[in-house]
Amino acid sequence: MFPAQQGRGSLMKTIYGPVPSWRFGRSLGVDPICRKGKICSFDCTYCQLGRTRVKTTKREEYVDLQNVERGLATADKSTSDIITFSGTGEPTLNSRIGEMIISAKKYALPVAVLTNSSMLHLPEVRSALSKADIVSAKLDASDERTFQEINRPANGITLESVLEGLMSFRKEFSGKLALQMMFIEANKESACAMAGIVREIGADEIQLDTPLRPSSVPPLKREEMTGVEKEFSGMPFISVYKSKRPDVAPLDNLETRQRRPE
Ligand code: SF4
Repeated sequence: MFPAQQGRGSLMKTIYGPVPSWRFGRSLGVDPICRKGKICSFDCTYCQLGRTRVKTTKREEYVDLQNVERGLATADKSTSDIITFSGTGEPTLNSRIGEMIISAKKYALPVAVLTNSSMLHLPEVRSALSKADIVSAKLDASDERTFQEINRPANGITLESVLEGLMSFRKEFSGKLALQMMFIEANKESACAMAGIVREIGADEIQLDTPLRPSSVPPLKREEMTGVEKEFSGMPFISVYKSKRPDVAPLDNLETRQRRPE
């Protein structure tokens, strides 16, 4: 059992940023996990937070709802364009994320969730995320071997379960569904097949990324990403090399660096 984080002393705070996001503008972060060691259902090779110390699919109240509500109520929201659920692990592992999203919707900002898609096969997770305005869901592979190699998921998670979850969520979710795709050496030849999957899912936006922030995996070069972009031509994609990051002043530099070690 993990104690709920209270945001005092040396504990991490649930609210951080705003951070400059190439996908969302000035993004006020909500971290429903709040663990320095990261709690995630994946252990992606390129993760900027390093190796996953606790790899799990167990959903718990890692951060309590009242803590998030208090943090959101007192945070300065005037310098943010969006409230984004993301942070030190997979947000949908918090069993009360649906209520947190409803709480965040009280403010005059759109609410986004970044998820690694691993839990979307669960109806209760799809129901919780359907309350958001934007869901940005990870998809880094078009075949099981590459999925296992890049995302190193917890036991029981397969590419098939991820794709089934994404297809079901697309049918149920009336908001904006974006697919976030991280391209590295291991999957750059899969871009054509991944574009085919995107067509089947019917995403509203495709976010083509490569690890430009500190990572143990090098990013693809601009010209390599241009090759990737060609596979998505005619589709609604944005690409990391071609997007601007806004200037922002974080509420708390330390709290922001713990999620964005840039
Ligand atoms: S899903 Fe996100 S937080 Fe989890 S290991 Fe991958 S990049 Fe890191």
